[in-house]
Amino acid sequence: MNDRVLPVRPAVEGWPAPACRGADMNTFFPAPGDLSTVRRALMICDRCPVRIPCRRYALDNRERYGIWGGLTEETRETLARIGPPSAVSSGSVG
Ligand code: SF4
Repeated sequence: MNDRVLPVRPAVEGWPAPACRGADMNTFFPAPGDLSTVRRALMICDRCPVRIPCRRYALDNRERYGIWGGLTEETRETLARIGPPSAVSSGSVG
């Protein structure tokens, strides 16, 4: 049994409660290769009203571990490598 509970993340005053409030902490910090838990966490994030600020917080603070804002560690690493969306979209096309 696991009684570790995920703290509110991020604490954004005036925003609705995050969907992960009170969730089992292990859901958002799954063991390597535990894809079913990753999917469960992503489904929770998908319906979270603070997904975008949560994602921004994790990217801005270079959170290395866990699932934040619907992004896995691997996805955040990739985004960190390729740079912010504005850098990608600022290139002219055509
Ligand atoms: S986006 Fe996911 S990790 Fe972030 S607050 Fe919402 S449910 Fe929690």
